[in-house]
Amino acid sequence: MEAKVTRYRAYTAHQLEKLTARTHFSAEDRLAMRAVAAVLPFRSNEYVVDELIDWMAVPDDPIFRLTFPQPDMLAEPDLNRMVDLLRREANAGEVRAAANEIRLGLSPHPGGQVELNTPRLEGDNLTGMQHKYPETLLFFPRQGQTCHAYCTYCFRWPQFVGEPSMKMATDDVDALCSYLSAHPEITSVLITGGDPLVMSADVLARYVEPLLDKRFESLESIRIGTKALSYWPYRFVSDPDADDLLRLFERVVASGKHLALMAHFSHPNELAPQVARDALRRVRETGAVVRCQAPLIRGVNDDAAVWADMWRRLTRFGAVPYYMFVERDTGPKDYFAVPLARAYEIFRDAYRQVSGLARTVRGPIMSATPGKVMVDGIANVADQEVFVLHFVQARNPDLVNRPFFAKLDPSAVWLSDLEPAFGAFPF
Ligand SMILES: *Cc1c(COP(=O)(O)O)cnc(C)c1O
Ligand code: SF4
Repeated sequence: MEAKVTRYRAYTAHQLEKLTARTHFSAEDRLAMRAVAAVLPFRSNEYVVDELIDWMAVPDDPIFRLTFPQPDMLAEPDLNRMVDLLRREANAGEVRAAANEIRLGLSPHPGGQVELNTPRLEGDNLTGMQHKYPETLLFFPRQGQTCHAYCTYCFRWPQFVGEPSMKMATDDVDALCSYLSAHPEITSVLITGGDPLVMSADVLARYVEPLLDKRFESLESIRIGTKALSYWPYRFVSDPDADDLLRLFERVVASGKHLALMAHFSHPNELAPQVARDALRRVRETGAVVRCQAPLIRGVNDDAAVWADMWRRLTRFGAVPYYMFVERDTGPKDYFAVPLARAYEIFRDAYRQVSGLARTVRGPIMSATPGKVMVDGIANVADQEVFVLHFVQARNPDLVNRPFFAKLDPSAVWLSDLEPAFGAFPF
């Protein structure tokens, strides 16, 4: 059957008034949503709004909560400040200045990303790349620093607001190649954003094809982080260059490297439309592997049945569950955070419901400054209730896969909230 051809139509904060007119929200609530959208980026599109959100279920609909600004995402004084500015129709400069101040208070670059992970080559900082774990280099292509829609909880949100000082991105493919030549320990390049699949196939090819050169024999895999399968599956089906994109995927596979789409799926509703399944099938037919990851977010997917359903469907469609993340310590984190103990319960409850094929997934995982820390469980050790944890990835590879312990704290939401048990933390 012919796919329904839809041209990409974005919605920005300017359309919020109109979009929320479909809800039964009060004028006050709608003003609060606009106030939040003045600080945190909002972007959606026709597909997300018309196909993924069930407007009868708003405000509880998970995709609505995933993509639309929620009044309590900002601390009350910040929200009131923005509401007042909008209500008295303050000038744009004043609104922008206030928004910037609030953003700076939201920890725009958690985990020491910029200071600790920026690689250096012959004395120069290579902005737009991150090299945190020896075997994997992150690359942020300049044209890929937006998304087909924005997630309200996104930890990359500084990439989307207009402040150049908050952005990291590059179009320097030569620097990428030089760095790879100097670092043969890198076996994986992860192209990320934003969403690199907002780029045309031509532009993406400019970044990808040089990596297929024989001199990068030690490079085993190329990964592309994307939410296009959820937010714009037409990217792989009916966009004018959809076929060019798939041919590019085929060339990577033919070059003898593993191509992985690191697909961000947050909720099984994203897999309901036929076009999303068609997109998954077309990607898999190129020989690329689709691996799936998402954070656990309060009000969106903090329910074991939701994860079990999603992992089952993904496995059915040939995708591989990979990571369940804990929401990062940035942006409106208090609004979305799920305590670690609860996250572990949800993970375990979902994990035990799926077959071994879906138990490739690991979580809940905090991507923190020293590395990716997984909560293995809660145990009673020597008469003490503790979290058992381990590093899945670490800046110091010696820490990987070694258990360590923290005192059980039912309200802890992040590594920095934890206190060591049985001696100091190993990091
Ligand atoms: C998660 C992550 C990676 C990739 O880790 P894998 O375990 O190989 O998926 C690489 N670099 C950074 C900075 C990361 O956060
Ligand atoms: S798709 Fe990824 S990068 Fe884009 S808004 Fe969502 S979480 Fe952020």
